[in-house]
Amino acid sequence: MLEARDITIRYGQRVAVSNVSLELEPGRITAIIGPNGAGKSTMLRTLNGGIEPAGGVIRLNGKPLRSYSRRAIAKGIAVVAQEAELRFPVTVFEFVLAGRFAWAAAGWGWETTLDIEATREVLRETQLEELSSRLMNELAGGERQRAVLARALVTDAGVLLLDEPTANLDLAHQATILALVRKRCNRRQTSALVVTHDINLAAEFSDHVLLMKDGKSVAFGRPDEVLTPELLKEVFAVRVLVDAHPITGVPRVTPVHEAHRNLQR
Ligand code: ADP
Repeated sequence: MLEARDITIRYGQRVAVSNVSLELEPGRITAIIGPNGAGKSTMLRTLNGGIEPAGGVIRLNGKPLRSYSRRAIAKGIAVVAQEAELRFPVTVFEFVLAGRFAWAAAGWGWETTLDIEATREVLRETQLEELSSRLMNELAGGERQRAVLARALVTDAGVLLLDEPTANLDLAHQATILALVRKRCNRRQTSALVVTHDINLAAEFSDHVLLMKDGKSVAFGRPDEVLTPELLKEVFAVRVLVDAHPITGVPRVTPVHEAHRNLQR
């Protein structure tokens, strides 16, 4: 369980996030949505202890985050960052196994049979077993992103923070990533936070949505409470149509592009 109360974050003099509160409950997925520059990534990096907030407090399992060591944070909170370049050719197995590092005493040959077993199990969970000896830089985008998620899952952290985990993926692979997150949250009561630009994916997979603009929290609640035409217009400055998805019943958001219509006249 991760909880942020009245968080304010500054880069030098500039306030990037102002008085934002957030509670990541066990077994729940929370999505942060908002335009570019709203403070979503800054918020995520702060929740992981990567940035020290100028105000407010973050608690991990009831204790202030700043009272934990780096290693204890890495055991409790796993991050799926936006795609990073790999400098060295490593196999999928090695890449995922490295997620266990926070559990190890430092040094070469740190991994135990338990670490190897945990890695095998997560490779099964993410359907990467057959690719385990392939090199990371020889995978297709969807497979590589699954490996990045696997490395976060293998930590066994109770909190997962994901920064645009489905960017650049096709429809099927987007759904696979979020279905894996959902499964982990259901089975282990993990709390997940997903920063995403995909409002419909957020509507489908999240339990709660935090809507941000200019570093402020505009709304927080269930997708059907937050994804309203009024709030989305306020935040994105775009008129949208919101109806219920005919199969799942979750809110479905379709932009109405006035400029496009004017061009056609
Ligand atoms: P989002 O993820 O919603 O696009 P960010 O968290 O990246 O937004 O950015 C929030 C604000 O903080 C923006 O105004 C951005 O320019 C600023 N910002 C982000 N990173 C830095 C940084 N490293 N140094 C200074 N300002 C930053």
